[in-house]
Amino acid sequence: MPEPAAIAGPPSVADRRERLVEVYREARDCEKCPLAATRTKVVFGAGAANADLMFIGEAPGAEEDRQGLPFVGRAGQLLTELLAGVGMRRDDVWICNILKCRPPGNRDPQPPEIEACHPYLVSQVELIEPRVIATLGNFATKLITGSRAGITRVRGTPQVHDIAGRTVFVMPLLHPAAALRTPSLVGTLGEDFGSLAALLGQEPPRSATPDAVAGEPEPDQLGLFG
Ligand code: URA
Repeated sequence: MPEPAAIAGPPSVADRRERLVEVYREARDCEKCPLAATRTKVVFGAGAANADLMFIGEAPGAEEDRQGLPFVGRAGQLLTELLAGVGMRRDDVWICNILKCRPPGNRDPQPPEIEACHPYLVSQVELIEPRVIATLGNFATKLITGSRAGITRVRGTPQVHDIAGRTVFVMPLLHPAAALRTPSLVGTLGEDFGSLAALLGQEPPRSATPDAVAGEPEPDQLGLFG
């Protein structure tokens, strides 16, 4: 009797890590947009290769560019504290940005830079397979949800989206840097982190039906996830 074919389970953490390192090596040498000329280090992302929760910010700042790690400045400290508030450590989650290189003077990411960088983000979602993606701030939220709805309107309410071939919960959050500028928002962000932790306990969504998606979807916006 022939052996029954083995049923492939999910990839191991080691496999995911190995493949992420391959993508990191590609990103480290990337020259697909002009930010290659001004960056100090590529900020690929950091955390658990099998994280259920992925945070996506906008772009590295000065400290991130120096260290090659995401969210290691003041906003990053607040992010670490907010995670601790819900019993999580940075090593439990994956933290990355829309752009892997710092825009000079922290200016807004430009469409060609976003387009050039998007395959790295897609690979991260494909390899890590998060169940929940938390977008930090207006920029990442609009891009990932494909909606013009601003962060103050949509923050704290989970949405369901198909991203990089997966149906995931997307939780829009205020950017920690915004909370540092307006301290009254730190409490709001803390409450939303509480909802985020609760969301992780929920069954993964089956599919992104129009009813499940808040806001005004514009799925083709920038073609970020195709
Ligand atoms: N702000 C971001 O959006 N990303 C970082 O990595 C740091 C600050």
